[in-house]
Amino acid sequence: MQSSAGNILSTPIEYLKGVGPQRAELLRKELDISTYGDLLGHYPFRYYDRTRIAKVSEINDLTEYVQLSGKIVNIYEEGEGRKRRISATFYDDTGRINLVWFQSLSWVKKTLEEYGEYVVFGKVSSFNGSYSITHPEMETIARANAVTGIQPVYSSTARLTAMGISNRSFGKLTQVLLEKVRASDIPEILPHALLQQYGLAGRYQALVQVHFPKNDQEAQQARYRLKWEELFLMQMQIANLRLQHTIQPGYVFDTVGDNFNTFYKECLPFALTGAQKRVLREIRVDTATGKQMNRLVQGDVGSGKTIVATMSMLLALDNGFQACMMAPTEILARQHYQGISELLAPLDIPVAILTGTVKGKQKKEVLKGLADGSIPIVVGTHAIIEDSVQFKNLGMAVVDEQHKFGVGQRARLWKKNTMPPHVLVMTATPIPRTLAMTLYGDLDVSVIDELPPGRQAIKTLHRPDNYRAQVMGFLKEEIGKGRQVYIVYPLIEESEKMDYESLLAGYEQVKSWFPEDHYKIAMVHGRQEAEERKRNMDRFVKGAAHILVATTVIEVGVNVPNASVMLIESAERFGLSQLHQLRGRVGRGAEQSFCILLTGKGIGQESYERMQVMVSTSDGFVIAEKDLEMRGPGDVYGTRQSGDLKLKIADIVKDSPLLEQSRHAALQLVAEDPRLEAPEHQRLKEALGLLGSRSEWNKIS
Ligand code: ADP
Ligand code: MG
Repeated sequence: MQSSAGNILSTPIEYLKGVGPQRAELLRKELDISTYGDLLGHYPFRYYDRTRIAKVSEINDLTEYVQLSGKIVNIYEEGEGRKRRISATFYDDTGRINLVWFQSLSWVKKTLEEYGEYVVFGKVSSFNGSYSITHPEMETIARANAVTGIQPVYSSTARLTAMGISNRSFGKLTQVLLEKVRASDIPEILPHALLQQYGLAGRYQALVQVHFPKNDQEAQQARYRLKWEELFLMQMQIANLRLQHTIQPGYVFDTVGDNFNTFYKECLPFALTGAQKRVLREIRVDTATGKQMNRLVQGDVGSGKTIVATMSMLLALDNGFQACMMAPTEILARQHYQGISELLAPLDIPVAILTGTVKGKQKKEVLKGLADGSIPIVVGTHAIIEDSVQFKNLGMAVVDEQHKFGVGQRARLWKKNTMPPHVLVMTATPIPRTLAMTLYGDLDVSVIDELPPGRQAIKTLHRPDNYRAQVMGFLKEEIGKGRQVYIVYPLIEESEKMDYESLLAGYEQVKSWFPEDHYKIAMVHGRQEAEERKRNMDRFVKGAAHILVATTVIEVGVNVPNASVMLIESAERFGLSQLHQLRGRVGRGAEQSFCILLTGKGIGQESYERMQVMVSTSDGFVIAEKDLEMRGPGDVYGTRQSGDLKLKIADIVKDSPLLEQSRHAALQLVAEDPRLEAPEHQRLKEALGLLGSRSEWNKIS
């Protein structure tokens, strides 16, 4: 919710009746709600409609969500450790269904009453022909009956609920607030023409109705307007960034000189693919125009992006500029450093490395070389964008595996020279169109849609845990043929300690299958000192270790062509894109490669589907679309935390038609009134100005 100072909406939330300082503090911490406006922007995530109660017998395989009314019996606890859960049977006069809880078990035990009458709501899943609802929302029948018409349901958190702010309380607080707020406090920010063209409700009306709709239609109308506004503001920011790029002067690379040509003719270890050549041509055209390049190169794992990056850097050198390449992890930076140094060795071009572990004298020398220009190319991590790093004349910045970096970090590269350098962003994650429009809407896009010739498709197998002995036997055969093997363990964010322990347990198990007198095993994980991690990684890269036991630190970019098997432990705990990335670590040499997905025995339907997707396709785009569909963009791209994609009400996948509309409208508006000078655009400009870091609106106006 946007609000300007002096407006009632910027009043601190603690002053609202029923809140007070303590709850205000918690609201801020838990849900980022600190003003009246923020509370208004905490939209209900669904509505509770007493008029729509289904019967158990109506549920079929197509049912997604359902609301039922009936009694609960057989509440019991089962399973142990991670699998501990509470099950119960819920029935009405037509049939029964299972309810299951994996979390907040003590709360569930305390609150649920055997033979109690409830209204339940939740997502139906089916297993072996019987239906169940996991973590249903429960409402006692008495409370459900007290409700008339349509009621908003808000998200809350365990801590807030404990402090007396349940999902129900938000409705009450919002009601109190709306009694104080007048239509004039919530002025329209969208130009009138857009409201008309797209049939959008007014802003004040939409905000009132999204919380307290009289009926379903009102709720839909309000949500439509708010989603549209949210996507439109985002697209306005992107359109503005894009506009800035198109008018941003850049260095002119008008020479294709000795470095580029000699490398191309004499040093390239293979012929470029058609796609690689096309992308290089696009980069050459971009950098010769006098405008700053902002280009995204999208190419599936193994499509050969590194060589494109290297040759782009040579182009910079040929024109008297320095170049840098930034990777998201130390391991990747080291690999790139090594690879690029080797590629460029015949040309006698010094390449430096700069990461968090480069310190003391070595670091001083790198900084000096970059500042005086004696080092033309530096490869590293985000250590490169630190303020202490000064270039003599940076002309080209390559950012590998972009989705690990925020937009803000990309922007810092701009400040490394008097004019911003050309920026080449490379990503191996195929990005569905709707998401690309949002994350990279300000960039020009090139696609490397062709793999180097002679690659064999990777064979992907899904095996339950009880095939472990056979799988290990297979690994031994492959190692016997001179190949190397990755064994990867999952990382669970909630418990780093547990991860570490499960990795160590896994390592012990690997050692018991592969005795140390015959097999050399290296291990890398996030808790190691960078030095130690590097040493272990090097052993594997150089072929001194047969097996690399790892967490997902190897997820991106690592290149060991002799490794032919990727074994993924507890594969059900990985997301699709992550599995695809991991699989991309093999199949880089001439040998037949394998990816084996080991899973527990009783994995759920969704996990099973994920494994099937992996087995059935190696097309990164298909996998990315599936992933987005199954998990949603925040989880897939880790953007929820990074703030690039903070959407409150719109959903990039489900609302993609609105996204297209709003993008179109934003581009048109920026074309007509780039500085938003027209009187009817003033409110919009103000709202955009309030949006914070991603908006660079003020730069242009
Ligand atoms: P990614 O796009 O995943 O970063 P890399 O740049 O690491 O892929 O390339 C993967 C492998 O393919 C490397 O071993 C690289 O040397 C090789 N490679 C790249 N381009 C070609 C090509 N045109 N022909 C043959 N091999 C290539
Ligand atoms: Mg790469």
